[in-house]
Amino acid sequence: MTLPVVKFGTPVLRQKGARIESVTPEIARLVVDMFETMHHAHGVGLAAQQVGHALQLAVIDVRGVKDRPSRLWLDGQEASVDAFMPLVLVNPAVKAVGVRERGPEGCLSFPEIYGEVERPGEVEVTALNERGEQYHFKAGGLLARAVQHEYDHLQGILFIDRMDTITRNEVRPEVDELQAETKSQLASKR
Ligand code: ZN
Repeated sequence: MTLPVVKFGTPVLRQKGARIESVTPEIARLVVDMFETMHHAHGVGLAAQQVGHALQLAVIDVRGVKDRPSRLWLDGQEASVDAFMPLVLVNPAVKAVGVRERGPEGCLSFPEIYGEVERPGEVEVTALNERGEQYHFKAGGLLARAVQHEYDHLQGILFIDRMDTITRNEVRPEVDELQAETKSQLASKR
């Protein structure tokens, strides 16, 4: 089932996600719905906050992107990114290890808004999967960017917070308009 993706201005996007103590059938169902929602929207990542749940849970699938490479290392060996997708991140811990790189980003909660964001180019990640099993990987390229973008969502941090002042000022009119639109929609639902 595809779920509605909440837009900027919705309070849950600013909430830090609660740790998931166990992957219950409800969480497993949410994971399935999040994948369906993300794929339907042609996104590469989706956080639980974006479908209205403040939880430490995100999904990622970079297979659809051919023009921006991703890299993956498992146990120190470079491995196939496509074979490792899709990813479920439950209670992820992320450690930045690469040099910082600028790259374009968008977000399903900010339709049509894009901007350059500087982030570490590589990350080491430890998380639980959809079966509650711990796993570890190192990522580079687009996958590293996607992991950091989603990890931020789980802390209530958004990509506009990571933009430099010039970029932030460029997107500010669209962001302000989106926030006002979201708030008026939320107010009319009350
Ligand atoms: Zn996002």
